[in-house]
Amino acid sequence: MDDAGSADGNEGSQADTDAITGTETTADSATDTDTTTNSHPNCDFCQISAGAEPAALLYEDDRTIAFLDRRPAVRGHTVIAPRTHDEELLLMDEADTAAVFDTVQTVATALESTLEPDGFSVFHTSGPLVGTVDHAHVHLVPRFEDDNVGLSLARRELESADAAAIVSAVRDKL
Ligand SMILES: [Zn+2]
Repeated sequence: MDDAGSADGNEGSQADTDAITGTETTADSATDTDTTTNSHPNCDFCQISAGAEPAALLYEDDRTIAFLDRRPAVRGHTVIAPRTHDEELLLMDEADTAAVFDTVQTVATALESTLEPDGFSVFHTSGPLVGTVDHAHVHLVPRFEDDNVGLSLARRELESADAAAIVSAVRDKL
């Protein structure tokens, strides 16, 4: 009952990751990186992707995996990650980024109909603020009216001069 057992959408488990030809072996400091899968031996998420470490797997396809967070904030708290070891979700192969969010949508749809949450929070953090796992991932957190999830943002008014400066600077880069 508590392992979200049948919320699957598996289309044949891709135990072998032959679809992932680690063609982008960037200048990696890890000397023992498996360059055929861009898999890091000391990375939990790479090991889960390879099937070498157990996880409550909800979904997997050629590019992504989705599994229940081992330390859930709420019931159904799910982690979605690319199979390839990239640290920056927002800077990696666009197809992988797109695949991650396709999987977010797929799993959210299944969670919606099974756990019937009141909504979802979806978030990703990159850069030096990242916690202990440096394998890019997205948190999909079902939200319930009475949950104790606190995603606090100290809000303030957008100042027009600052808005104009940011718009100008960013649009120059696009
Ligand atoms: Zn990894």
